Amino acid sequence: MIIRVRQVAAACALGAALTACGAPTAPHAAHPAPTATAAPSRPPTLAPGPTGLTPVFRNGPRTDGRTVALTFDADMTADEGARAARGERFDNPQLIATLRALKVPATVFMTGRWADEYPLQARSIGRDPLFEIANHSYSHHAFTGDCYGLPTVSEDRMRADVERAYAAFRRAGVTDAMPYFRFPGGCYDRAALKALTPTGVTAVQWDVVSGDAFATDSDAVARQVLEGVRPGSVVVMHCTRSAAPATERAVRSIVPELRAKGYRFVKVSELIRAADAQR
Ligand SMILES: [Zn+2]
Repeated sequence: MIIRVRQVAAACALGAALTACGAPTAPHAAHPAPTATAAPSRPPTLAPGPTGLTPVFRNGPRTDGRTVALTFDADMTADEGARAARGERFDNPQLIATLRALKVPATVFMTGRWADEYPLQARSIGRDPLFEIANHSYSHHAFTGDCYGLPTVSEDRMRADVERAYAAFRRAGVTDAMPYFRFPGGCYDRAALKALTPTGVTAVQWDVVSGDAFATDSDAVARQVLEGVRPGSVVVMHCTRSAAPATERAVRSIVPELRAKGYRFVKVSELIRAADAQR
């Protein structure tokens, strides 16, 4: 398990950019945003950990029905603008279109740099009630030392990096990004959890690694997910054409197979709400 996590995180770091999810703007019309009159509800979060540390969420209840959350990291590191300018695609509009076509709710952990690169897609994803956008840092730099070669954010800059991502989302037109944060590379320690306490985020890890980073065999990715999912699972995947080219195909086989087993796809917020209710 740890090895698998390390593999994905390493791939994430390497590509520098595993990257990103994108969505064309047109399909948005089919999923109108909630009306302005809808009662605003506060997103569920976990209570802070001991001594007020940022809480860490890994999976939902195992005994609350067959729910599963697919999560997609929209990676783009702060220095990858030149690669994007040369034509490398850190987005994956086809993946988002497939999730829409299959009506699969999903949580997108987006870097602020990605939202700056693809503001229309960020806005389209953020305004689609099928999805929720959560924070994957602005820079995609590591929040601990020794995190698969990623450059490191200093402790006194961690909070600002998270807040800078939320600012990027707002610039793109996403005003209701969730108070959930996924550490780049999944790397965190007590100091990082402490540094983020003032932001009020719940850190979100995962219990199922899809292995989609740089994978070309979509069947292998699908198999790994199908073997790993249990009730309440959080699956980590990526939506990046350049760094996770098999993901969209894998999703097309994962979704019907899990539905046939009785699973219902939910967003991370629903699992966190269920976990909080069981406390
Ligand atoms: Zn990442």
